[in-house]
Amino acid sequence: MKCRDYIFQLTSGQLEDAGTATKIAAWQHRMICFRCRAFTRNDQALQDMLKGYGDQLQTSQTPAKPSDY
Ligand SMILES: [Zn+2]
Repeated sequence: MKCRDYIFQLTSGQLEDAGTATKIAAWQHRMICFRCRAFTRNDQALQDMLKGYGDQLQTSQTPAKPSDY
């Protein structure tokens, strides 16, 4: 898995629905790639923030299930 693939899957939400093999690949990538690890942390914070805004604005976008890693 390349950085671009990882970032794309993460930001598009595909990682949530991905199969086990992809999730393992993503996990492995995070282990070896400092930048994507940092990005994931930032993205997580961003998502939490957006989720907070979403609750206030009552958008139709439902938050993803609680992360299980
Ligand atoms: Zn990377």
